[in-house]
This record gives sequence, structure tokens and C-alpha cells, in this order.
Amino acid sequence: MKVAIASGKGGTGKTTLATNLASYMAETESVVLADLDVEEPNSGLFVQGDLFHQETKYKMIPEWNSKTCSHSGNCQAVCNFNAILSLPDSVMVFPELCHGCYACSELCPTNSLPMRPKPMGELKHFQAGDLDFIESRLMIGEEQAVPLIKQTLDYIAAGFPVDVVKILDSPPGTSCPVIEATKDADLVILVTEPTPFGLHDLKIAVETVRQLGKEFTVVLNRFGIGDDGVIRYCEDEGIDLIACIPNSRAIAEIYAAGRLIYPEVPDVKRAVETIADFILRNRKGR
Ligand code: SF4
Ligand code: SF4
Repeated sequence: MKVAIASGKGGTGKTTLATNLASYMAETESVVLADLDVEEPNSGLFVQGDLFHQETKYKMIPEWNSKTCSHSGNCQAVCNFNAILSLPDSVMVFPELCHGCYACSELCPTNSLPMRPKPMGELKHFQAGDLDFIESRLMIGEEQAVPLIKQTLDYIAAGFPVDVVKILDSPPGTSCPVIEATKDADLVILVTEPTPFGLHDLKIAVETVRQLGKEFTVVLNRFGIGDDGVIRYCEDEGIDLIACIPNSRAIAEIYAAGRLIYPEVPDVKRAVETIADFILRNRKGR
């Protein structure tokens, strides 16, 4: 059971929900929490544990062999990502732009572009009771989040049975990294806030998950500020809005101190319980 926590924009409370939900569910279930926001993972501010495993993750990029190159220009022509430049006397590879698709390497007529591993990030696996917390972090200067997200999901798939609940804290937005993080999820929970910006970005996120054919639901964070636009939108579109997390100074203070909120705020605990029930009912229905 894979549950992706996503949002159309950053700062809506996605990580707050992911960490509180995973920690709450781990009181009675085996749960994996994965921070897939690899450019800026911050679930670890709220969830600690003992380091169980750590590994460097690599991506494959081509390395030019000047001795065998016939300067055909083929590599530049086949690269869809402008990651390789064929000049009259040399070939330049731009590792930050390379998606490691192997096209240039496979189609080079003189085998002058063998693929070589290049470190792109670190994966860390922590354990705290029944909660396994996995965090991947891109190295500074690395721009491709997708390969690291994919490898993190592969690590989870290889290490945990299918019936374990996996909470995937996805990157914000609706671009390639969030598609990679949500495309295999059984359920996507879209976190939004009751403001015109929240509604605008929620609509884009809804369009995205509908195109992916995903089952999804909405959680409204900071309930009490703004307006009722999100609630009316969900009613009009027939979208389940399963929980509202209230806006309060107490929540903000607990968050700022890096603590979990549900143990201290009954309204948040009720919201998290409702979401957990929804997930478990969904799992049983499969
Ligand atoms: S495809 Fe191969 S032979 Fe042609 S320019 Fe690129 S590296 Fe050289
Ligand atoms: S591996 Fe793919 S993305 Fe990278 S330079 Fe070659 S063709 Fe471009």
C-alpha cells in the first residue's frame, strides 16, 4: 500500500502531514516513511531513529573517448535533453542535464561514449520502532531529482513487503519529480490550504493525478484562514475532502520546535486518525 502525500505547491503542510501520519500509524502498523523531496528533504527534522543503512546513489553518464571518436555528431542529434555537444574537435557532456538514457552511448558508431557511474546523492535508512524512515538527498549541484527518487522507490520495493504501508512525502509541484514519486502510488493525498493560491495549485494537482489515473483525496491544512473556495471546489468536482487540520498558533509553535503535532493537539490527532482509517479501509478494499 503506497500512499503519496503531494501538493500543487510547497509550504502547504505536506511534510507535517506525512511525518505525523506515519508516526501515528506506526503505533499499530509497520510503516515506511520515505522523504522523496530529494532536493530539500526535511522529514528528518521531525522523525528520528537509529541509522540502519546508508549508501551513495549513482547515475550513469557518458564519458567521451577522444581517441576513438569519429566526430559523426550522432550523439548530439539523439540527445533529447541537450546534454551533449558535438564540436568539430571535441565532444562535451553536461552531467547536470544528462538523464542517463544511454541513447548517445548505444548509438555511437565507434563506441566512444561508455557509460560511467557518477555519485548523485545519499540514501539513509533509519529505524524507530515500527517506523522505517528513508531519506534521500541530492548532492549539491545535482539537478536531476528523478533518478534518485526512482532508486529510492526501488530500495523500498526491494526491502519491504507489499502490504506494509508506505507513506511517500513527495516533492511539491506537478513536474517530473512529483510524477515519479506518485505514479505507482495506490492513493494520492493532496494537501492544500484554504486560500486562492492553494485552490489554484490544487486544481493543477488534481488535473495531474487525474491524468495519471490515480485514486486521490484532499486534506485541507490551516483550516480557518482564507475562504471556502477549496471546499466548494471539492463539492463541485465530487472530490473527497477527508480531513481538515486547523490553523493555530500552538501548532505553529510545535512545528517550529521540530516536534510531532498529533501527540499534543487533539484536533490534529483526530484528523490524522481519520486519514489513517481511510488508508486502512482502502487497503482492505484491495
Ligand atoms: S556519436 Fe560517437 S563518434 Fe559520433 S561524435 Fe559522438 S562520440 Fe564521436
Ligand atoms: S545518456 Fe541520454 S541524456 Fe545523457 S547525454 Fe546521452 S543521450 Fe543525452
